[in-house]
Amino acid sequence: MAEHHKARPLPPGSLRPAKQLCSECGLCDTSYIHYVKSACAFLNQQFDALEIQVHGRQRDINQENECYFGVHQMMVAARKKQPLLGAQWTGIVTTIGMRMLQKKWVEGVVCVQNTPEDRFQPQPVLARTPEEVFAARVNKPTLSPNLNLLDEIERSGIRRLLVIGVGCQIQALRAVQKYLGLEKLYVLGTPCVDNVTRAGLQKFLETTSRSPHTVVHYEFMQDYHVYFKHEDGSVEKVPFFGLNTKELKDIFAPSCLSCFDYVNGLADLVVGYMGAPFGWQWLVVRNERGQEMFDLVRDELELQPVMSQGQRHQAVQQSIPAYDQGVTLPMWAARLMGVFIEKFGPKGLEYARFSIDSHFTRNYLYVRRHYPHKLASHVPEFAKKIVSQYRLPET
Ligand code: FAD
Ligand code: SF4
Repeated sequence: MAEHHKARPLPPGSLRPAKQLCSECGLCDTSYIHYVKSACAFLNQQFDALEIQVHGRQRDINQENECYFGVHQMMVAARKKQPLLGAQWTGIVTTIGMRMLQKKWVEGVVCVQNTPEDRFQPQPVLARTPEEVFAARVNKPTLSPNLNLLDEIERSGIRRLLVIGVGCQIQALRAVQKYLGLEKLYVLGTPCVDNVTRAGLQKFLETTSRSPHTVVHYEFMQDYHVYFKHEDGSVEKVPFFGLNTKELKDIFAPSCLSCFDYVNGLADLVVGYMGAPFGWQWLVVRNERGQEMFDLVRDELELQPVMSQGQRHQAVQQSIPAYDQGVTLPMWAARLMGVFIEKFGPKGLEYARFSIDSHFTRNYLYVRRHYPHKLASHVPEFAKKIVSQYRLPET
């Protein structure tokens, strides 16, 4: 184990070193704050070095799929033969965590439960039993300080660990993993975009859903609608193009508006949905460790090859000013547009590229306007290449 130099964590509520860009990943709540300058995803962008550390090589940005989806050896669409009740999708993430504990591959799993009072308030836990991992199923769609468990992990004496997390958490984790005293670390990532604080989430629910207080779960789906699932089991669908972008512009955390790690490039295995057909999950196996995790649950999954259909470029180019100026369509027009784009719009991997392009162009503009001095170093080469396909406003 590399020697861990400790520093005193910051008191709760105080300004973090990344200031407004802090994604509350949790590192600064621990003695690992000593490494913040080099480890924080928003202070030190270091994809190239970390990809080499984790996967043995950098992504090849001249190969379209690698440029977009990061280093990988396999992609597949999957869903559980028997979906887990209450999971975000079919529960592949939770199943992997539970099986890894049951088979004693690991002694603990970092995952996110909710607080007893609030289903959307994240509560990171070091789960030691499958039941504790099960209790963490479903997204808490808010910034979660998963790395505030780092000192606890070190104290626990655990040698084999699984961490489930989103990109900014995993970037910082990779930077300090050598100090954790682990024999084996598995990282199971999800894609992540447009995350919010708990107050931001409330504003989103109140501006978008017909019944904000009964929402138990929501997702931006591949058919260009947000699906809100309510307590009574009903599903409310709102077209993306009808969202009140002007009102919602400010709810996303500044960290998420300056993030280019949508696909969690440093995880061993990524489980999302955006590269898969509607109703399916999308798995990206990045390396051998990711393959081991996939193989562990393979028999529980239905599989189909990934597909790609449609042409995204024009739709992305047209959406740049709409995103930028906060245009909101009347609901009838939004529904019409939703139907049209669902029928003829990009699908599968092309939908994933559509979503990445739309977010990267928006985020590039955000960094250029608000942090121009950081633009060159903070935006990774793969993102610069993606953004360069589009005409951006001059200012
Ligand atoms: P489940 O079995 O329900 O497990 C969900 C896991 O997520 C749990 O283990 C829990 O520990 C973890 N978790 C919950 N909340 C958080 C949090 N705030 N931070 C870190 N970990 C958390 N996929 C896409 O393809 N495109 C997207 O744009 C996208 N955005 C996402 C945004 C957020 C904030 C999150 C957390 C996930 C996002 N995903 C996205 C992933 C997707 O929504 C599903 O989580 C993923 O497909 C796994 O589904 P599942 O049924 O297997 O998960
Ligand atoms: Fe610290 Fe994480 Fe915030 Fe960076 S993002 S300042 S590492 S808590």
